[in-house]
Amino acid sequence: MKVPVMDLFFDDLSLDDLVKEALACMETGEKCVVITPNAEIALACKKDAELKRIINESRLVLPDGISIVLASKVLNGGIKHKSAGIDFAQALCGAMAENGKRLFLFGAKPGVAEEAKKKLTERYPGLIVSGTRNGYFTPEEEPLIAEEIRDSRSDAVFVCLGAPKQEKFIDKYKDALNVPVMAGLGGSVDVFAGTVKRAPKFFIKIGMEWLYRLLAEPKRIGRMIKLPVYLWDALKWKAGGKNNA
Ligand code: UDP
Repeated sequence: MKVPVMDLFFDDLSLDDLVKEALACMETGEKCVVITPNAEIALACKKDAELKRIINESRLVLPDGISIVLASKVLNGGIKHKSAGIDFAQALCGAMAENGKRLFLFGAKPGVAEEAKKKLTERYPGLIVSGTRNGYFTPEEEPLIAEEIRDSRSDAVFVCLGAPKQEKFIDKYKDALNVPVMAGLGGSVDVFAGTVKRAPKFFIKIGMEWLYRLLAEPKRIGRMIKLPVYLWDALKWKAGGKNNA
């Protein structure tokens, strides 16, 4: 059952259950779009009705960030699981490796997806990285990329183009790709390749990964400012009597 946080609907599931559901879709061939909204993406939905529709039509919507969990708390919605896209991606890679599944990596700057392939196949023996493609292309190239992904006969594709580009690509090509699990996963290919480092576990545990990322990349301040704005929205939502509980 989806849990609403303002007007987006999330899956409050453990990492294990999310992975199980994605694997089950690989077995049945059922389409499983996975989206990982954080505060920034949730706020973007206010001005982007298409993005909001895509999220609310997705099979798995992961609360990616402490701000979603906090907003849910404000609204008495009770989301318990924070599921960062990168944690889901790693857990899915592990499970796919055990089952000999095929993964296509799409996104990031030229060369990064290839490096990620190398690192992932070392780390998860059994995982088949069935293809890679960088995330920089012209609109004319899009259908060709979709064909390349389809021809790779993959069980999952990680689309890492940043939001909302990745969500819109998945939505437009979800039938053409013929890949059961299609996940929009932001900078995950960069993390797999090692070009971007994740915060130390301590920061993640206390819900301060955003602070680590801000210190590491101060130019993200414009994006980070969205966190308090989003929480303020939740307070206004509640004050307006629109309690999600
Ligand atoms: N990117 C891409 N094509 C584009 C724009 C961005 O492949 O046209 C990639 C970019 O290189 C980076 C990822 O998309 O690897 C976006 O990372 P971002 O930090 O925005 O993701 P986050 O994890 O913060 O959502």
